[in-house]
Amino acid sequence: MKSGKIGVTTENIFPVIKKFLYSDHEIFLRELVSNAIDATQKLKTLTSVGEFKGELGDLRVTISVDKEKGTLTVSDNGVGMDSDDIEKYINQIAFSGAEEFLTKYKDSANSIIGHFGLGFYSAFMVSKNVEINTLSYKDGSKPVRWSCDGSPEYVIEEGSREERGTDVILYIDDDSKEFLESTRIETLLKKYCRFLPIPVIFGKEQEWKDGKYIDTERDKIINSVEPLWSRKPSELKDEDYIKFYHELNPVNEDPMFWIHLNVDYPFTLTGILYFPKIKSNIDIQKNRIQLYCNQVFVTDQVEGVVPEFMMLMQGVIDSPDIPLNVSRSYLQADGQVKKISSYISKKVSERLDKMFKNNRSDFQQKWDDIKLFIEYGMLSDEKFCDSAMKYALLKDVDGNYFTFDEYLSLVKSCQTDKDGNIVYLYSTNEEDQYSYIESARNRGYNILLMDGQLDNHFIGLLEHKLDKTRIVRVDSDIIDRLIVKEDIKKVELTTIQKDIVSFLFKSQIPTIDNVEFVVNLDSLGSTELPAIITQNEFMRRMKEMSAMQPGLNFYGEMPDSFVLTINTANETVKTIVSEVCKSIEDKILPIINEIDEINKKISSTEVSEDEKSTLKTKVSELKVNEESIISDYAKTQDIVKQIIDLSLLQSNLLRGENLGKFIRRSYSMM
Ligand code: ADP
Ligand code: MG
Repeated sequence: MKSGKIGVTTENIFPVIKKFLYSDHEIFLRELVSNAIDATQKLKTLTSVGEFKGELGDLRVTISVDKEKGTLTVSDNGVGMDSDDIEKYINQIAFSGAEEFLTKYKDSANSIIGHFGLGFYSAFMVSKNVEINTLSYKDGSKPVRWSCDGSPEYVIEEGSREERGTDVILYIDDDSKEFLESTRIETLLKKYCRFLPIPVIFGKEQEWKDGKYIDTERDKIINSVEPLWSRKPSELKDEDYIKFYHELNPVNEDPMFWIHLNVDYPFTLTGILYFPKIKSNIDIQKNRIQLYCNQVFVTDQVEGVVPEFMMLMQGVIDSPDIPLNVSRSYLQADGQVKKISSYISKKVSERLDKMFKNNRSDFQQKWDDIKLFIEYGMLSDEKFCDSAMKYALLKDVDGNYFTFDEYLSLVKSCQTDKDGNIVYLYSTNEEDQYSYIESARNRGYNILLMDGQLDNHFIGLLEHKLDKTRIVRVDSDIIDRLIVKEDIKKVELTTIQKDIVSFLFKSQIPTIDNVEFVVNLDSLGSTELPAIITQNEFMRRMKEMSAMQPGLNFYGEMPDSFVLTINTANETVKTIVSEVCKSIEDKILPIINEIDEINKKISSTEVSEDEKSTLKTKVSELKVNEESIISDYAKTQDIVKQIIDLSLLQSNLLRGENLGKFIRRSYSMM
């Protein structure tokens, strides 16, 4: 028997281990099982290079709990250790860089958690004593027993193990009794060891017999040793992928499709990323990608590890190049991890590109469902955006799909305005915006459908990416103002007539909560409707964005402002104009002349300030007078009210009481 001091020069590593890994005590199990797996894998390697010629046997790792003795044991039939190995790998912690590390980071214990794989020594987080019983695979080895009570002193003596391999026995600490509960251990094994490459055994399979569960002879294997991502894509069928998906997400619907990552340069990475069907807006739940290192579960908190937009995906990523014992903040800062992240993004983009090229019609069919991912990617990842420009699609209201390039050539000749800007028109709702779409169609224009969750932001991105292009909603102005081809025809009315007609309509617009109207006269052509309501693109977008982003409240609180355009070239409107002028021009003209006179006086210099304000009051009175003459007339004109209501109806603004009035009026006119 020999005793000694563990080779850590820093006074005592164990208090550090206990204290600072407090929150994550459970990882000890992951560490010990990984070591056991490593030991069996090493033996396989030695066999394959001819250095080990004995029987491999059934390689396995067994975990057992003895509640009475208070022990938890991890056993393997791997390479084992002789006393030299123990000396080198267990006693000299310094060997794995711990000593150097501890001296360097003494003061920032937190980084220890991040940087330093505590490995075997994490056992001391939960144990008052740890024992190793081991026999090396090497010919003529003697069994070794090592034990340590958590102080730097250890004992090493001849052991009793008769078969190749290692038992690590933990004498569980009083404050860690939870790790003697089978259910707790099983949960942990399922979390960390579910996909380890060697069978991990914990207890026996149970069977229902005589009214209770009893143990059978069969070992209970926790893991599936050959998880799907570690297999060759060419060997796998769709069913396999779907089945595996449901193993990860038991309650989910089938995924739309998946990407099997399989990379060995510039780093090793395998994995499967699934595109789930996202049905509702807020179906978006993060942390659905699990990160593995050589099939050992590391974390499902992958923020910063995978590109942000991929947080919408589900699946697994496995890379030995992702450090195993890491905290999240460390992962995010790690250069290698960043590279991996952008690499994944690139791979996903390549795959999408391939899908698009190989089977465009299939890609188009999936487009509506994957659009959210791609738009999110394009919005949040510059590089992804650049590559996605090749296969991202635009869909029009008739259900046709175009690449960006295709769309440009489609609309270029017809939808360029007189200043050389190309104008893309879109609708967010074909039903609501039906008549606007119609009048755009009548001009031969194409209308995109932009009804996705992110389209509002995406339109902004498009405008930014596309040269000399404006993107406007089809109802944001009258069509000839959206794409101005030539200077619009002047309205052939006198100023006075214009005033009268504008107020005539303005006075009859019903009040709608939080909505404002401006009346505008335009000569839109005799075949166009008498009136049309539009909403300014900029204001609307601002309001919509502010609804999604707190902080832009200013826009959110403003009333919705619409423009009611009266088409003075329309025959019905023409009749209204000539009649209103005939009936009230005589009464209005003198008032207007008087207002003009007074206004002239006000602007002359001879009048004193006092007089000016009296005159201004007079003007207001005259205006009120003028307006009441017009609105008194307007009240008698059902046709004016009909025109307004019909245009409100067309833009979904006619509701409640206003709608009721409209219906009654319509009947009375029949
Ligand atoms: P790491 O696994 O990162 O090398 P550990 O602290 O987990 O660090 O383990 C230290 C070393 O101890 C291992 O590299 C291995 O040589 C040895 N070891 C630990 N557990 C076993 C085991 N079950 N069988 C054989 N060797 C082991
Ligand atoms: Mg280890």
